[in-house]
This record gives sequence, structure tokens and C-alpha cells, in this order.
Amino acid sequence: MEQTKNAHAGVRPPTAVLTRGFDPRLSVGSARPAVFRSSTYVFTSPEAAERAFQVASGRAKPLPGEDIELIYSRISHPNAEILEDQIVPLESGARQAVVFNSGMAAIMTAFLSFLRPGDSLIYTMPNYGGTRHLIREFLEPFQILGIAVLAGRWNEMEEAINATRRLKVIFIETPANPTLVMTDIARTAEAAARHPDRPLVIVDNTFLGPTFQHPLRLGADLVIYSATKYLSGFSDMLAGVALATDAELIQRMRAHRILFGNILQPDECWLLDGRLPTVPLRMNRQSKNAQRIAERLVEHPKVRRVHYPTLFTDPEQIKIRLAQCLQPGAIFSMEVEGGRKGAFEFLRRLKIARNAVSLGGVETLACHPRTTTHSSLSEEELDRCGITEGLVRVSVGIEDWHDLLDDFMQALDGI
Ligand SMILES: *Cc1c(COP(=O)(O)O)cnc(C)c1O
Repeated sequence: MEQTKNAHAGVRPPTAVLTRGFDPRLSVGSARPAVFRSSTYVFTSPEAAERAFQVASGRAKPLPGEDIELIYSRISHPNAEILEDQIVPLESGARQAVVFNSGMAAIMTAFLSFLRPGDSLIYTMPNYGGTRHLIREFLEPFQILGIAVLAGRWNEMEEAINATRRLKVIFIETPANPTLVMTDIARTAEAAARHPDRPLVIVDNTFLGPTFQHPLRLGADLVIYSATKYLSGFSDMLAGVALATDAELIQRMRAHRILFGNILQPDECWLLDGRLPTVPLRMNRQSKNAQRIAERLVEHPKVRRVHYPTLFTDPEQIKIRLAQCLQPGAIFSMEVEGGRKGAFEFLRRLKIARNAVSLGGVETLACHPRTTTHSSLSEEELDRCGITEGLVRVSVGIEDWHDLLDDFMQALDGI
């Protein structure tokens, strides 16, 4: 598979995603990858087996062009290798990828690969509920200290970076879930580079990547995805990915993936692989739909406020958006009149959009973060993060935007 990778160097991402990483000759000529479900692999010789174990364990590095045989599917398998090769061109600046059986598996493996007892990590708030839970309930008892900073407050971030010792990771989710508040990736990377511990800057790029935001180009060390969302795009599977410019970081995560057993299974790799070529098409359509809808919803009398990148009013936020996002993306949150009652009434009246958590699928979904995705936060934290009683989060799909707008308007009229 190495040769195919090199033969296709130099083409643009939409071409590379369809041409690299897969050699039909290795799959009896099939034009699209086959699924290899075998859990174990037959060696061509005992020497080849010995060599494969040396490389897999990190005791030896493969020579340029050397063919290392597969061993066992928990370590790696052909569909993971194909997917990992094909996903790289979608993430600008990436050289290697590693796939996991969920976004949380990718985040957990990153934390356990780069943090040790006594270390600290800084993370932006609000963020994905699972990430916050992992930091507070799981890492803290292992003596890994999590320091939350409010997204969009640079002085809080700067103070935390300056004040923290044994700082090994700065974990940014931008735009923040569900308020869309942005964190300046380049500025954070510069501050991290000045810190004596040189913490890794890890960006959860699920909301805008890989099409509209390129953290590795802005100085981030590692990009993480819940591939459950836009990368797979149909709300029918779970997957996670981590990508980096520095292959060493990915190698460390791969070594841990072997121990944790959280590699993505062959069938899921195959499914996700087939979805990659349409990621930019879907995301562009979804973003255009969302922009048209969000910019019209602000005018409805029952809507107090719409959180959406093109509707930012804070000059600092506008500056960050222009510097790091190519398009505003397909998620917005809106604050409706009437608090929780108004929000629930709105959700109840939707006919096209469905009341469900998750995001990034071709279908439009809406939820009430304060009582669902973010319900583990204290009242005080919810208020501090701007997750109000009337806030509804919407993930816009690829339906005709006029129909979606009509649906939102009729639901708002009914509040
Ligand atoms: C969904 C999500 C995750 C978790 O991913 P899973 O695939 O559900 O494990 C992490 N971060 C963000 C921003 C998400 O939206």
C-alpha cells in the first residue's frame, strides 16, 4: 500500500481521497475496497512474523518501502489502513491518522497517551459532555488536573497557561458546543510554544472540520474527530479519528490502541471510507442551508438570539472566525422566547427536524442542551456558559432549506 500512497502524491484532496491508500490488485481487482473481516493474518514465513512483531512493538522501525505483514486485527487490519491513508488528505497539514471505535475512544486514547499522574490539562468550556465527564470523573482521580477556561475569553486562557505547571495538554473545542463561541487556535498554539512544558495543543474539530477549519495549519499538534458526525454523515455508525503532522504522536496513540482494543472494526472502516469523498459536498450544502436559515430566523419575533458564526457581534469573535473558518458550518443555537416552556413547545411542533441529540447527519436534528447534552453541568456553570433555558441547538441537514425554514417558522409561530 506504500507505493500507491506515493504514486498519488501531489493531487488535490478531493482527488487524493479517491485514489490513495487503496490498491485494487490487493483486493482481486475490485474497484472499491473489499471488507477484510479476518481477526488474524497468515504469515509468509516465521521470519516475516518475527519482523512484524518487532515493528508492531516499536522495537524496530520499518525500512523505506519495506512490506510489514499484518498480525492480528486489534493491532491493525487492511480496512483501518486504507481508511487511515485515505482520510489524511482531507485534513490539511496531516501526515498520519489513527482510527478508533468512537470519538470518545479517540479523546480518551489521546489523554492517556499524553498525560501522566501529576500532569495538568487546560480545556475550553462549554464542551462535549463526554469529554467534560472524562476529565472530571475519570482523569482527576488519576491525579490529572483539568483546568476549565471559558471559551472566548483570551485573558482566562492566557492566565491559565501562565499559571499552570506540568501542563501537558491544551484541549480546545472550537466552535464550542452548543454556543458556537470560538477559541483562537493560532494564538493558543503560540502561547503553548512559549510554555516551558511545551504542552500539546489538541483540537476537537468535529463541528467545522475537516472542510472548513484546519487546526494543524494554525499550529495545533493533534486534531480529533467524532467521525460519528460529519465524516460518516448519516447518523448510522460510531467512529473516531486523530490526525497529526508529527507521525510520532500518531504512533504513540496506535501503541495504546493495541492495549485498549479500541480500533474501529473492518465493517465500520469500510463504511466510513466510502463516505469520505462526499464529506466536502455534504458539509458545503449543510453550511449553506444553515446560513440561509439562521440569518432569517433572527428576524422572527419569538427568537431572542441566534448563535451562529456569521451573526457574531463581538469583534474578537468575528476576528477569530475570519482567521480560522472558511465557512460558518451547519450548527446554530437559538434562544427562543418563553424559556424552557418555549423551547420544549418549539421542539414539539417541529415536523421535519427531529428532536434528537447528535449532529452532522444529512437529516436535521434539534435538541434542548440544558436538559439533555449539558444536563450534568451545575446551574451556575450553565448560566456562565450561556446555556439558557430557552436555548435550542440545531444541526442542519441537506433537505431543501425552504422546507426547513418553513418548519422552524411554523414551530416558532406556535410558541
Ligand atoms: C459527538 C462528539 C464527541 C464524541 O464522539 P462519539 O463518536 O459520540 O464518541 C466528541 N466531541 C464532539 C464535539 C462531539 O460532537
